[in-house]
Amino acid sequence: MDGFEIHDPRFAAFILPNAPLETLAEGFRWCEGPVWFGDRDELLFSDLPNDRVMRWSEHGGLSVFRTPANFENGHARDRKGRLLSCSHRGRCITRTELDGTITVLADRYEGRRLNSPNDLVCKSDGTIWFTDPPYGIQTDYEGGKQVSELPARVYRLDPGTGHLTVVADDFEGPNGLCFSPDESRLYIAESGLQFAAEPTRHLRVFVVGSGGALSGGRVFHTVEPGFSDGFRCDVDGNLWSSAGDGVHCIDPSGKLLGKILTPGTVANLAFGGRERSRLFLCVGQRLMAIYVNQRGARLL
Ligand code: MG
Repeated sequence: MDGFEIHDPRFAAFILPNAPLETLAEGFRWCEGPVWFGDRDELLFSDLPNDRVMRWSEHGGLSVFRTPANFENGHARDRKGRLLSCSHRGRCITRTELDGTITVLADRYEGRRLNSPNDLVCKSDGTIWFTDPPYGIQTDYEGGKQVSELPARVYRLDPGTGHLTVVADDFEGPNGLCFSPDESRLYIAESGLQFAAEPTRHLRVFVVGSGGALSGGRVFHTVEPGFSDGFRCDVDGNLWSSAGDGVHCIDPSGKLLGKILTPGTVANLAFGGRERSRLFLCVGQRLMAIYVNQRGARLL
């Protein structure tokens, strides 16, 4: 079947053979950080090197949500629906309040500046979990060269107190992350050192303890070609991950079920649409989308 690779019969049931892979908008420099706002029927995403956050909706088309944007990368929503952002240039996590003002939630750990928060997710208890590789401060292209003051780590932020906790520190380049639907697992992508001859292609899985501590961390799946930059879970706990040739669907045991092939590398993705069954893809200079016969895990 054109446009797909089916590695397991379960994946055949997830795809709609007559649903096209659509280009919704193009002309960006590099898209990242998609997040769906069902209440406004719109998608926000970063056009990272252009230092802007874009807004797309079926009826309203494309517009600029904000620019300059301090080189935002990953986005999520908190339990009250507010936008959470990773800022490369600001080296911080921000929350956009309902009146539009921007609050810095975290920019330092023990007095030292964060590197360049890359991606984040909000747990049902309101805590915000994010990755902090140095990618965004190693080039002017992604936010501006700056000196790293901290190792690459994964943090948990309590937005009520501002307290940051290191939850994982054995990464070279932690990238996308996502909880399983029941939040018993946290998946974290390891994409390695920037400028390495080969990226690290690992998806790792951690067990989330009752107090929020992580254990385990084994390599759960190796994404190839390319690497996993970002991913989301569906309602059954399968991962839909970005990759060099499209979207890879991986079951909770780590088995590749199938692929949606795209004309270029996918950086990140998000389920959206009325039933969370439309997959929005950041594909290089393009925003693309495809309807699938599976729903994304509920995030709020
Ligand atoms: Mg990323």
